[in-house]
Amino acid sequence: MSAQPASRHRHGFDAGLFPLVEAIVGARARRDVLASSVTTLAIGGAIRALVTVDTAEELGKVVSLLARMDQDVRALGNGSNLLIADEGLDGWVLRLGASFRSVTWLAEDGTVEVGGAASLMSFARKVSDEGWSGLEFAAGIPASIGGAAFMNAGAHGSEIGQRVVRVYGVLADGTHGVWEHDVLPWSYRSSGLSPGMTVTSVVFRLIRGERSEISRLCSEHLAERRARQPLALPSAGSVFKNPRPDLPAGRVLEAAGLKGQRVGGAQISELHANWIVNPEKRATAGDVRQLIELCRTRVRQHSGIELEPELKVWP
Ligand SMILES: Cc1cc2nc3c(=O)[nH]c(=O)nc-3n(C[C@H](O)[C@H](O)[C@H](O)COP(=O)(O)OP(=O)(O)OC[C@H]3O[C@@H](n4cnc5c(N)ncnc54)[C@H](O)[C@@H]3O)c2cc1C
Repeated sequence: MSAQPASRHRHGFDAGLFPLVEAIVGARARRDVLASSVTTLAIGGAIRALVTVDTAEELGKVVSLLARMDQDVRALGNGSNLLIADEGLDGWVLRLGASFRSVTWLAEDGTVEVGGAASLMSFARKVSDEGWSGLEFAAGIPASIGGAAFMNAGAHGSEIGQRVVRVYGVLADGTHGVWEHDVLPWSYRSSGLSPGMTVTSVVFRLIRGERSEISRLCSEHLAERRARQPLALPSAGSVFKNPRPDLPAGRVLEAAGLKGQRVGGAQISELHANWIVNPEKRATAGDVRQLIELCRTRVRQHSGIELEPELKVWP
């Protein structure tokens, strides 16, 4: 499973730094926040420190302070692709505040800068309604703009990276960075941005289109989701990456007889074999991990395919 940040040794969580962080962000630094309250799977124990920042400067200050003290720092978006351990997270989780939800049109050619905390779904709907094409695929993806850019979220044959002009963010050492589209190694569910950095805003270029055609496409994508995905239940979307573009993970999981399989409170959706759901909100992270391992083992035995999780697992 993909862990983040990568391997570097870090010191343990230093609660003594809390007052220094509070001096920068005030009451927006919170202790022991349940991961289940900030993830769409509704699973996970206490995050030792959840810090909401309101400006890029604040973010830079907090990150550089924590980096100097070698603390574990992670960016949280909408928590729609995350599994956080039952024991919680002994580290600092940073979240962008409401001021990072702004949308600023930079030119009439469809160039627009969007804050990292803005909702991808709402932004995609807004621009689609206004006759801008390019984000129809995003209808129904409950991501933040920052998380979607970091993950290179995609659906229906399109990815967000295709629409990105540049990304602004703060690196793991607290310095500010700008990445033009072409310097990033965009790939399936990855922007290539380094773990530990935080995307603060993204500049997109959208394409003028026919409003009725854009709206038709969005509705079609949403209808397909409603028919094939268990949207009413807590989940984190697809659990595994597709082994190949022409071979969806759901198909190999279903072929291995995994639909409906349960471990504790976690279940492989009856509707879509690549979704793990938490129907009664009593699943533990341990249940989900076991179910993931069961899926990998069964698929390996059944078809020789090595499934790779798309879900990010903390720690
Ligand atoms: C109902 C449902 C449908 C979904 N459908 C799709 C789909 O069609 N296609 C698809 O690709 N995904 C889908 N997903 C998964 C998820 O929405 C995406 O992976 C999304 O990109 C995660 O964004 P987030 O803001 O929720 O990030 P989080 O889940 O909070 O974090 C995911 C990763 O991104 C990093 N991250 C978050 N915010 C930032 C930031 N500002 N800067 C840097 N790194 C950051 C985190 O550190 C973590 O590594 C779906 C999920 C659900 C629940």
